[in-house]
Amino acid sequence: MKTKQIQVGGLAIGGGAPVSIQSMTNTPTQDVEATVAQIRRLQAAGCQIVRVAVPNMTAAKAVGQIKEAIDLPLVVDIHFDYRLALECIEAGADKVRINPGNIGEPERVKAVALACARKNIPIRIGVNGGSLEKPLLAKYGGVTPQAMVDSAFGHIALLNRYDFDDICVSLKSSSVSTTMQAYALMHEQSHYPLHLGVTEAGTLKMGTLKSAAGIGGLLGLGIGDTLRVTLTADPVEEVYAARDILKAVGLRKEGPELIACPTCGRTRIDLIDLAHQVEQRLTQVTKPITVAVMGCMVNGPGEASAADVGIAGGNGTGLLFRKGEVLKQVPQEALLDELMALIDEIP
Ligand code: SF4
Repeated sequence: MKTKQIQVGGLAIGGGAPVSIQSMTNTPTQDVEATVAQIRRLQAAGCQIVRVAVPNMTAAKAVGQIKEAIDLPLVVDIHFDYRLALECIEAGADKVRINPGNIGEPERVKAVALACARKNIPIRIGVNGGSLEKPLLAKYGGVTPQAMVDSAFGHIALLNRYDFDDICVSLKSSSVSTTMQAYALMHEQSHYPLHLGVTEAGTLKMGTLKSAAGIGGLLGLGIGDTLRVTLTADPVEEVYAARDILKAVGLRKEGPELIACPTCGRTRIDLIDLAHQVEQRLTQVTKPITVAVMGCMVNGPGEASAADVGIAGGNGTGLLFRKGEVLKQVPQEALLDELMALIDEIP
């Protein structure tokens, strides 16, 4: 089912809009300077929507200043205290992540729904497997996909009571399969845009793998409208991982693709290290090019003839090539810089 479209700042989510990348700052939100600096780094890496935690009124009071200093749509993450939501909405937040079932009295839910409606900003209902309502846990005997979906519908109903339906939904669990099944069910049963994520995914390697399996698997089935990779790492890594997941499932073509040979008995260069260095430098490149890093000068250029540019390392020396055609031979220590200079020249 095609999801309905919502607007977050100037960005459309759902309804066929390209799947967007989100991340969340880990600086204290009240430290405006540090938070803005981190948001700029996230944006440079490709983040399109950024979220800040708003745990107290000091943080809420900083939201206006942050918003003025950045160009990205800004989401505020609020638990329980509806007054924080009202403060942030007034300060110009572009979206609020709050679960109406946790706000308390209906009047408070109403106040938040009306404030969002007045400013035309959506609410994300963020169901988390770790904090499901007790009656649902009792009914389903634990955290199940349907229990998570029921929780989402419960929160949605609270907002719908005040005619508010500018909603997107996330259903995150630290279990990849529970997360995937919950999103698949929600996709079947509703038209709300879905914010994908596997929560508490873990450190860089395992977290990326879990997110690639969970988020990537859902995107491959046509489920999901925006995503956040959750990593216990610098949030910029979340953005790189998100970009890679989108590329891996074929939803993004922009940005470089690195190919590298598996190495073999002909290899006379530390190719693994070289490939990592190239990968690192390519994080700053946005051109849609294929870059090859090959382990020998005899077969490298030919094997990678489909790549736009590449290098092939030899014994203390290496070749720079373009579409399989050798351009020049350079000393090994100059290979990386020569490759980056060649990439710079490509329009
Ligand atoms: Fe081996 Fe050379 Fe092929 Fe790499 S490019 S796998 S080093 S033959």
